[in-house]
Amino acid sequence: MFGMKYAVLADIHSNLEAFRSVLAHLKGADKNVFLGDIVGYGPNPNECIELLRSKEFICVAGNHDRAAIGQLDTERFNREAKEAIDWTSMALNPASRKFLEGLPDHLEVDDLEMVHGSLRDPLEEYIANIEDSKATIELMKKRLCFVGHLHIPLCIVKDREGRFDGWQLNDGDVVDVSKFDKVVMGVGGVGQPRDMDPRASFAIYDSGSGEVQLFRVSYNIEETQKKMKKAELPGFLIERLKYGR
Ligand code: ZN
Repeated sequence: MFGMKYAVLADIHSNLEAFRSVLAHLKGADKNVFLGDIVGYGPNPNECIELLRSKEFICVAGNHDRAAIGQLDTERFNREAKEAIDWTSMALNPASRKFLEGLPDHLEVDDLEMVHGSLRDPLEEYIANIEDSKATIELMKKRLCFVGHLHIPLCIVKDREGRFDGWQLNDGDVVDVSKFDKVVMGVGGVGQPRDMDPRASFAIYDSGSGEVQLFRVSYNIEETQKKMKKAELPGFLIERLKYGR
């Protein structure tokens, strides 16, 4: 059986340097998929959307994408996130706005599903542990569902006996999806990782071997921080990139 290779990215958050660094490491992927939050937090929303489109990413919406165009209330956002959303909605050009307006909540692509938060609540629910994953696993039509939103790479599985297990993923880790009944995989964040590893996170899924591998790549954090300072984005958002939290 011939397999397809999928590059799976999430939470770029207007961080052009992190996005470019990941793209430079994607050799030979057949399809690119993106799990939402192309904008919010970072200084390059329009440039990131243009790059996403030029690389023909298949995309779903994230909570920041919806909030930036007024399709989601920011009441559940913290103060810095809200400030960055206000900045972003001012910065978006008409083409970017139109692109964001067209994003769906959830997609099925070949033998995988993709959503930003969870299948129960596509925009705002975090899947951080086994308990959180159960509603999504009930709703899954395919064996594998990729999620973003948490900015921490992790894997939750249900085996054929109905037992659950879950663990965090590090650079180079491989999961053989074909061994399980259901797999929910969080691929971490490209533009704002939160697992104390500041490197951009992404995954490659090979449908031929049934394996997903997680990768971390470094990027020029100082360059992104410089642009954020110039844009007068909140200091807390600038600082956290250095620590990956
Ligand atoms: Zn996010």
